[in-house]
Amino acid sequence: MSEQNTSESIFGQMNAYGHQKIVFCNDPDSGLKAIIAIHDTTLGPALGGTRMWAYKTEADALNDVLRLSKSMTYKAAVAGLNLGGGKAVIIGDARKDKTEALLRKFGRFIKNLNGEFITAEDVGTNPRDMEFIRMETQYVMGVPETIGGSGDPSPITAQGVFMGIKAAVKELYGNDTLAGRSVVVQGIGHVGENLTRLLRDENAMVYVSDINEERTVQVAKKYGAKAVSNNTIFDIDADIYSPCALGATINDQTINKLKFAIIAGSANNQLEDEYIHGRRLLEQGVLFAPDYVINAGGVINCYSELMGFSKKRTLQLTENIYEATRNVLRLSKAESISTIEAANKIAEKRISDIKKVKSTY
Ligand code: NAD
Repeated sequence: MSEQNTSESIFGQMNAYGHQKIVFCNDPDSGLKAIIAIHDTTLGPALGGTRMWAYKTEADALNDVLRLSKSMTYKAAVAGLNLGGGKAVIIGDARKDKTEALLRKFGRFIKNLNGEFITAEDVGTNPRDMEFIRMETQYVMGVPETIGGSGDPSPITAQGVFMGIKAAVKELYGNDTLAGRSVVVQGIGHVGENLTRLLRDENAMVYVSDINEERTVQVAKKYGAKAVSNNTIFDIDADIYSPCALGATINDQTINKLKFAIIAGSANNQLEDEYIHGRRLLEQGVLFAPDYVINAGGVINCYSELMGFSKKRTLQLTENIYEATRNVLRLSKAESISTIEAANKIAEKRISDIKKVKSTY
C-alpha cells in the first residue's frame, strides 16, 4: 500500500490539505455524482457552496473540492465566524444534467451529515436549486428571501470589498477617504456593479470594464463612471485595481505591467500562484488586500441566515472586514511576509487557539 503516503492517493491528498472527511455521493437513478469535502470543523459546521461543473475527470473534481473547501476554512476563520470550511461539487453539466430529483437526492446526502456540512449556491447552482435541496434538508443557506432566506449575497459581498479597499487605502495613504482616488473595476456583474455604486457614492473616480461591452457602457452611464476596454486595463494609471470577474488575473504575464498601488477585489484566487505572486507583489510594493479576506461578505450573509441575525447585524459583521484587513496588512508589514501569508497565519492561529479551548473544560 505504498500509495498511502503519496499525494496522489485520496488519503495522501486529505493529509496534504488537512481534511477531516470526504463524502462521495452516488445515485444512478438520478445521475447524481457528487463529492462533499469537509475540511475543518474546529470553529463550527463546515459551510461552503455547491458547484456543478462538467469536470473532465473525477480527479479534477476531487482536486477542486479539496482546494475550495480548505479556502472556506480560512475565509471563515479570518472573518471571525464560528464556521468551518467545506465545499461540494456535483459532476455534470448544469444546463443539461440538473434535475429536481438529482438536487433532492443530493439534499438527502447533506441531511445525513446532521449539520456537519451546510451548503449554499456557487458556480452552476442558483437560489432555485437551493430550494430543492431545502425540501430535503434544513442545512442549506442562500435560499430566496421570499421563503425566509438571505437572498442575493452580492450587495453584502460588495460592501465587504469596499471596506477592504478602504482599509488598504488607509494603510497606504494614512486616511481612508476615497474621494479623489481612482479605481479600475474589472467585471461589472452582481458584485462589480454594487461596488461601483459604493465607490461613486464616495466620489472615487471609477473605470469600469467587462467582456460584455454593452453592459459596461450602461453601468458607466448609470453611476458616472468611465467605460474602458477590457484589454487596456493594465495601461490605466489608477490607484486601485479591483478584479471582480475571474481568478488568476495576477500571473507571470501581468505582474510586470502593474502600475496600481493597491489590488483589492471580489474574485476568488486572484493570484495564479499564491506564494510566488504574493511575494512578487510584496517586493514590487503593491499592496494586495487578500481576496478571501475582503470577499467574505457572501459567507457572512449565509452565517447570518444560519444564526437568524438581522440585516443590521449582517452589515456590522461585514464592516468588520475593515479591521480584519488592517490586521492582515499590519502583520504583513511587521513580519515582511506577503499579505496572503499574513492572512493564512491569522486564520491558522485562530483555529489552533480555539482547538485548545475546545479540548479543555
Ligand atoms: P457575475 O457572474 O455576476 O459577474 C462577473 C462579471 O465578470 C460578468 O459581468 C462577466 O461578463 C464579467 N467577466 C467575465 N469574464 C471576464 C473577463 N475576462 N474580463 C472582464 N469581465 C469578465 O459574478 P459576481 O457574483 O459578480 O462575482 C464576481 C466574482 O466575485 C467571482 O469571481 C465570484 O466568484 C466572486 N465572489 C462573488 C461573491 C458573491 O457574493 N457574488 C462572493 C465571493 C466571491
